[in-house]
Amino acid sequence: MNIKESFVEATSETTPPPTQKWKFIDKELEKRKSSNQERFLKRIEPIDSLYVRVNGKTLLNFASNDYLALSKHPLLQEYTIRFLKKFGCGATASRLVAGNFTCHEEIEEKLACLKHSETALLFNTGYQANISILPAIAGKETLIFSDRYNHYSLLQGASLSNARVFRYQHNDFDHLKKLLIRSSDYPFHSMRKIIVTESIFSMDGDQSDLYQLKNLADEFDAILFVDEAHATGVFGSNGMGLTVDYPVDLSMGTFGKAAGGFGAYLTCSRKMKQYLINCCGGIIYTTSLPPSVLGSICAALEIIPKMHLERSLLQKRARDLRESLQELGFSTAVSSSHIIPIIMPDEKRALDVSIWLENKGLFVPAIRPPSVPSHQSRLRISLTCALEDSHLSVLIDALRDWKKISGGL
Ligand SMILES: *Cc1c(COP(=O)(O)O)cnc(C)c1O
Repeated sequence: MNIKESFVEATSETTPPPTQKWKFIDKELEKRKSSNQERFLKRIEPIDSLYVRVNGKTLLNFASNDYLALSKHPLLQEYTIRFLKKFGCGATASRLVAGNFTCHEEIEEKLACLKHSETALLFNTGYQANISILPAIAGKETLIFSDRYNHYSLLQGASLSNARVFRYQHNDFDHLKKLLIRSSDYPFHSMRKIIVTESIFSMDGDQSDLYQLKNLADEFDAILFVDEAHATGVFGSNGMGLTVDYPVDLSMGTFGKAAGGFGAYLTCSRKMKQYLINCCGGIIYTTSLPPSVLGSICAALEIIPKMHLERSLLQKRARDLRESLQELGFSTAVSSSHIIPIIMPDEKRALDVSIWLENKGLFVPAIRPPSVPSHQSRLRISLTCALEDSHLSVLIDALRDWKKISGGL
């Protein structure tokens, strides 16, 4: 008998047990469905800076991170095409091999200048930056102090680093200080410390106190790492984030939000950049950003510093909207920016209101656990400078109607 025949004989004699290997999928999806937490992709067609078509219906967009309405800006499109034609579609290799073009370096120089930092380093995405920088600068001998509301990518980075992670209560610097004091005791006293926070928090739209954080970091000889994903383009001098005015050790941000394109950055010291080029997997083992994307970043960096008027209007409208929502009896939690949550009593209510608004032509997504803590489901409004007072009135009127019909929260 040859090998093939003996294989057929052996397998035909026994009936294989029913397959178990996909059971985890049914189990997880069932769990999410029963707790109103199952998510689905929506098919979106971008129309202009104000409207999107969602599942075939045209809606006023309150869900975009395109805060300065740059994603369709003519200069970004022009530079995107110009860079593509000049340098090609792809970067062809990682930065360390053959993918470090003049345009990568020029953008880093421009960025460092705008951020008032020694130097800058491009990353492919903010997610990739966070999950690869933290493991590069932290290890078993490190203590990471992380704000409880930090973005998932920061948690993931901390966990991949194998550091000991202490999560302090959101923006609670007394709690942070207690944890830092405790860490000065044996056996932690000689370990490296890193404090990690966002500058504008992505789900609550509030701000961290960088002045206090910097003082604490100095007092305890800790590295301060700040995620400026939602501040870049919108806050600080040149619109380049809050760390421009409160320099910190490491500041990262994304070009996928207010900069209207894609990609991410870190600003840091020259020595740190040299260290990361040698030790950060997210730089070493990945193809660098393609020229077209660099074109859009280059254009955005030209425009953003000049957009003072748009930035102040955006925050004025955000203030007005928060006030109107509060007058209607909604909680906007601790928001102090263009990101405005409307806290809902539960997942189902958040979904119901979101669907109700959608039927009125308004796109306001419901955000549910695990993106936010349980019992903190919400509608998340993110304003862009394309939205004018008249558009905000439509939203306020719709929410007022919903309140009347539903009898309140
Ligand atoms: C969006 C976001 C990121 C990820 O940035 P991408 O460039 O979209 O990958 C990281 N941190 C925070 C706080 C974010 O909101």
